[in-house]
Amino acid sequence: MAGEPQADCLFCKIVNGEVPATVVRETETTVAFRDINPKAPTHVLVIPKVHYPDAASLAAAEPGVAADVLREAGQVAADEKVDGEGYRVVFNTGAGAGQTVFHAHAHVLGGRGLQWPPG
Ligand code: C5P
Repeated sequence: MAGEPQADCLFCKIVNGEVPATVVRETETTVAFRDINPKAPTHVLVIPKVHYPDAASLAAAEPGVAADVLREAGQVAADEKVDGEGYRVVFNTGAGAGQTVFHAHAHVLGGRGLQWPPG
């Protein structure tokens, strides 16, 4: 059922502690942890604790939690001190856009120059 934990979902396993992660922030509705394969000096993922396959389906079903993810992304950037220089929040959506884990997540990237448009 939408929003329920999925037994085969890696990020649900991070939420419930079955898979370890370097957690930097946690709220009632979200977890933020360092990406295991960082693409920038700061690369943190912010995920909702509830399971939705991507950001759009999360926002449609639980807009308050989607807002929590965005707020936490900003908090991560502030904690990491990349908010002054500029940072990027990315939601890869769909395999063709590079999404590999189908549990909604925001990438927070910063600490280096970021090209536009992205590849
Ligand atoms: O947007 P995408 O679905 O590709 O992002 C998934 C991200 O999850 C990747 O950047 C990958 O490095 C990260 N990951 C992680 N910890 C894991 C498995 C994947 O940080 N255990």
